[in-house]
Amino acid sequence: MISEECYELGSRSSIIREIFSFGLKRKAEIGADKVYDFSLGNPSIPAPESVKKAILELMERPPEEVHAYSPAPGDAGVRKTIAESLNRRFAESFRAENIFMTCGAAASLNICIKALGNPGDEFITFAPFFPEYRCWVEGIGAVLKVVPPHLPDFQIDLEELEKAISSKTKGVIVNSPNNPSGVVYTKEALTGLTELLKRKTQEYGAPIYLISDEPYREIVYDGVTVPYLTRYYDNTLVCYSYSKSLSLPGERIGYIVIPDRLADYKKVSPAIAGAARVLGFVCAPSLFQQVAARCVEDTGDIEAYKSNRDLLLKGLTNLGYTCVPPQGAFYLFVKALEEDADAFCERAKKYDLLLVPSDDFGCPGYVRIAYCVAQKTIVDAMPAFGKLMEEYSAAVS
Ligand code: PLP
Repeated sequence: MISEECYELGSRSSIIREIFSFGLKRKAEIGADKVYDFSLGNPSIPAPESVKKAILELMERPPEEVHAYSPAPGDAGVRKTIAESLNRRFAESFRAENIFMTCGAAASLNICIKALGNPGDEFITFAPFFPEYRCWVEGIGAVLKVVPPHLPDFQIDLEELEKAISSKTKGVIVNSPNNPSGVVYTKEALTGLTELLKRKTQEYGAPIYLISDEPYREIVYDGVTVPYLTRYYDNTLVCYSYSKSLSLPGERIGYIVIPDRLADYKKVSPAIAGAARVLGFVCAPSLFQQVAARCVEDTGDIEAYKSNRDLLLKGLTNLGYTCVPPQGAFYLFVKALEEDADAFCERAKKYDLLLVPSDDFGCPGYVRIAYCVAQKTIVDAMPAFGKLMEEYSAAVS
């Protein structure tokens, strides 16, 4: 008998992947320029030149320096470079030992959840949330509790969070800038969150860990900054990835920050190594560990995403759509024109608009529009968005 749980997960692909596959088929039928595919969060801007330069330079190094297994937590020099960069940027005092290199944010999160949780424990996250959290939490036999957003700003609802915390709460997963809402949680919201966690930790006499999922940290607009949560709360683990900042999602490279100040640091740190081992992450890709160190504070051209955001937000607002104002990431969260977001997305397909319904993000009634696309796609899609709106307006009048 095979694992029913894995069979279930593997036999039904995610709604995002389904829409993306539909898009590929449709593009082959009518031409790529006539399909407005806003389904996937694949960075559309190229990796910065420094990435190419680093790869070419590294290719001149002896192969064993770039292609060999690294130590399980990563190359010591790479970890030191990353720690020093974080110290410079966030006034921290991390050492190489506080950095554990991983295969991207997905691996970082999966490792943290496995290292901290036991069957029956609870992890809490905030809607809307990245759907894979559910796989990773339920994969260890724990329970994912979802806190609804504070409306209309989609910030953290502290009252709802307080109701969700129990003696079984092992961790809280927070993602800012947020996929899919594009919202950046304010300093006030995060202060409220961390003060509440401190109070609840005291009340229950056991640490509640904060897991900060931040692959979009650098993708912010209008001078908004993203607070660094280790500065607010000692029991924070940071899950970072270069997938979006360096436009390297296929290369699978990121890291976990495991601060010394963490409660039970002496146990959590080896547990992270143990979880990575159980999950089969022998080491993060060696070549891209070195690339990350050489490009540690570089990013792609974030301004290109900003002009896409401005164009889309203005265009859709002018057409009468209600959008959650995004300060970061590359997603726009838009109110569907009927209650059933799935049905709305089906109707949008008639105009070759490929949008993702929000149900799997734990926040029904919206759609996610990934605007990490060529700007021409946004311009060309506007008449289709207009026709979709007209169809609904005609149905009402
Ligand atoms: N967390 C969030 C919120 C994401 O949007 C993604 C990817 O889109 C991930 C984690 C996984 O990132 P990675 O590709 O680095 O594993």
